[in-house]
Amino acid sequence: MTAAYVGRFAPSPTGALHAGSLVAALASWLDARAHPGGRWLVRIEDVDRPRCQAGAGERILMQLAACGLHSDGPVLWQSQRGTLYQQALEQLVARGLAYPCACTRKDIAQAHAAAGRTRVRHIELPYPGTCRQGLGNRPVRAWRFATTDYMQNWPPAPAEQAQEAPFFIAEGLLHWQDRRLGAQQQDVAGTVGDFVLLRADGCYAYQLAVVVDDAAQHVTHVVRGEDLADNTPRQMLLQSALGLPTPRYLHTPLVRGADGEKLSKQHGAAPLQLDHPVQALDEAAAVLGLPRLVQVHNTALGDALALWVKAWDGLYNQPL
Ligand code: GLU
Repeated sequence: MTAAYVGRFAPSPTGALHAGSLVAALASWLDARAHPGGRWLVRIEDVDRPRCQAGAGERILMQLAACGLHSDGPVLWQSQRGTLYQQALEQLVARGLAYPCACTRKDIAQAHAAAGRTRVRHIELPYPGTCRQGLGNRPVRAWRFATTDYMQNWPPAPAEQAQEAPFFIAEGLLHWQDRRLGAQQQDVAGTVGDFVLLRADGCYAYQLAVVVDDAAQHVTHVVRGEDLADNTPRQMLLQSALGLPTPRYLHTPLVRGADGEKLSKQHGAAPLQLDHPVQALDEAAAVLGLPRLVQVHNTALGDALALWVKAWDGLYNQPL
C-alpha cells in the first residue's frame, strides 16, 4: 500500500448527479478511505463550457454532501484553470508534440472519403493527418497532439520519463493495467490518432485538462466509470509527453438503463433524489459488488459508509 494516496472525483457539470455518476463518486471515495491517510478531492470539470449547465456544479456538491462525501481539499473548477492548460499546450508545442490544425469536420470527412475509408456507425475515424506537415495558408482552428509521431518514436529519452513507466508501447499498441479490468491495450494512433488538445471553439479538451489537473493535484489513483477506460491510453501518452507521473487506474462498472445503454445525462438519466441518501448509496454499492445493507432505512449514513470501506478493502484493494 502506498503511503501517500490522493484520489479524486471529477464530474462534468452537464447536469446533476445520477445513479451512474454516484457509483464513480462512491467508489473513488471508498478507495481513498480504504488507503490509510488517503485524501479524496473533488474537481468540477466545467471546461467544456457549451455542455455545462448553470448551477449543476453547485448542485453536484450538495448531492455529494448529502451522501456524506466531502472533498478533503478545496474544490477545483476547471473553468478557472485555463492558464495551466495553455502552459501545458505551449510545452508540447515547444517539444514538437502538438501542431495546429485547420481542418473542419467536412475537410476531415472528405480526406477519409478520398482515401476510401468509411465510417462505421458510432465509431469516429482517426484524424487523417492532413495538417501534420503544415497548414499552408489556412487559418488555425484547433491544436492536436502528435500521437502518431510520439508512438513511433517511443520510448522517449529516459530523462524525460518522470517515473518507471506504468505502461509500455509494443508494436503500435499501448499496454496498461487496470485495477479492475486487468491487462488492457489500445492502438492509439490507429483508433484515435492525433487527438485535439485545444478545440476550434476555444475550449481546452478534456484529455489535456484532466492530465494537467490530476498532476497538479498530485493524484495517485484515478477511480472512475468504465466508459472512460478507453481515454486512459491518450492520457498516459500526454502524461509521458509532459513529463508527469501516471496515476493508477480503476474503472468501475457502469449502471445501465432498461435499454441496456449506459446511464448518462445525455440519455436523460434522472437526477438523484436524495431524500434518502443511504438508499441511493446502497444501490450504488450493489453495482460495485459491495454487500447490500440489511436494513436500508435504519442504517445511519456513517455506519453504511464504514461498512463499505471495510468491504472495499477486500474487493478492489488487492495487488494485481
Ligand atoms: N469529467 C469526466 C466526466 O464526468 C470524468 C473525468 C475523469 O474522471 O477522468 O465524464
